Amino acid sequence: MNYEITVQIFSGSFLEETASWKQIEKKLEFALSRLAVNKVIMGWSPDPYLYEKTASYLVKRNIDFYLWFPVFSENSALMKLGPLIDYKGEHTRSRGEHWDEDFIFCCPNNEQNTEKILDKFKQQYSSIPFTGIFLDRIRYSSFANGQGFGYGFRNVFACFCPYCLEYYEKENFNVDQLKEAISFQTSPPLGITGYSGNGNYTFEDSIISDFFRLKAGIIYRSLSRICRFFKEKGLGVGFDVFAPFLSPFVGQDLVSLSGLCDFIKPMMYRATSAPAGIPFELEALLRETSANTINRKNYYDLMNINPARKPFDLVFSVNELQNLSASSACPVHAGIEINRKKNLADAHPDYIEETIKVFADTGIRGFALSWNLLDTPEENITSAAEAIKNVIS
Ligand SMILES: [Zn+2]
Repeated sequence: MNYEITVQIFSGSFLEETASWKQIEKKLEFALSRLAVNKVIMGWSPDPYLYEKTASYLVKRNIDFYLWFPVFSENSALMKLGPLIDYKGEHTRSRGEHWDEDFIFCCPNNEQNTEKILDKFKQQYSSIPFTGIFLDRIRYSSFANGQGFGYGFRNVFACFCPYCLEYYEKENFNVDQLKEAISFQTSPPLGITGYSGNGNYTFEDSIISDFFRLKAGIIYRSLSRICRFFKEKGLGVGFDVFAPFLSPFVGQDLVSLSGLCDFIKPMMYRATSAPAGIPFELEALLRETSANTINRKNYYDLMNINPARKPFDLVFSVNELQNLSASSACPVHAGIEINRKKNLADAHPDYIEETIKVFADTGIRGFALSWNLLDTPEENITSAAEAIKNVIS
C-alpha cells in the first residue's frame, strides 16, 4: 500500500509578517530529500512572491501546490463580514490577540460573506499557478473559542443573525425550544445518549440534534457553492476538518462533505494543545458544558475514550479513522502534527512513529504532515520518513 504524502507550510497570517523564501526553500530541500512528497499546502500570507517562487520550485519536481485558504474566519481582519451571533443575540467573541490568527468567525449562512471571501481569492491569488485549494475553517466557531468561561458555549450555540433566524423559521425549527433545552445541565453533557462514529451522536432532546443538523446543512450548502467556484477554475479541492467526534459541534458532517472535495484531512492532532487539537477541543467541550467529574466520566464511558492515555487515546483515534475511511466518498488523509511548538504541540519522533504505524492500517490513503514544516525539527521529518518507509510494503 502506498500513501499520498502532503506537507503543510504556514507562511504567515493575513496581517502578520511572513516567512522568507530562503526559509521555505531550505525546509523543502530537507523534507524532499527524505520524503516522497506528492503535495505541498501553503498559506495564507498575502505575499505573491512566496507563492510564485514555491510554485516554480514545485512544478519542476512534479509536486502539486495547494493554497491553504481559511474561509469562515480570518477574513474579517481584511473586510467587513456579517458576524456570527450567539443565542443571546450578541457577537461571538474570539480568542483574538493570543494567536497569530484571529479566529473571528463570520456567518456561513450569509451569502454575501461567501461572495466577498471568493472575491478576495480572485484579487489576491488567482494569478498564481496553484494546482489546488485547501480550505480551512470551513466550520462554525468551536467550544474552544472565546476568552473565558461561557464564551465557548455561546460560540457553539450560534448563529442567530437575521439570515439564520429566517432560515430556522423556514425549516420549522423552534429557537425558543432550543434555548430552553440548553438552559440546564445534563449528564453526560448536552444530554448525549450515544455515539456511533463519524460524528453521529444521539441526544436525549432531539432539538439539539436538529440544531446541529441545520448547522451542518448550512456549511454543506455554502461549501457546495465555494467548491463549484474553485472546480470551475480547474483546481483540486482539499478540506481541513475536525476529528469526527468533534465535527458536529462546529457544523461539519464529514461524510456529506467528503462528497464535495478531492481529499479530506481530519486533524487527528493528539498532542496539540491549541485550536483543532483533540485534547484542547475536548477539554473545551467538557468545560463549556459545565461538566463536573461525574459528567466527564459519563462522557468518556459512553464514548469509550480512555482519558488516562496520553497523548490523546490512540485506540479511539484509530476507530474514528476506520469509520471515516469506510464511509468517505473521497480519500481520507490523516492529519498528524509533526511540528514542535513548546506547550502547544509537543511532537517528538516516538509520537510520530507510533501514530504513522498505527494509522496506516485504518483505511486512510495518505498522511498530511501538519501543520507547519517551518516549525518542524529535522529529527521529526526524518522520523516521519522512516515510519512511512516502514508501512509501505
Ligand atoms: Zn447567521
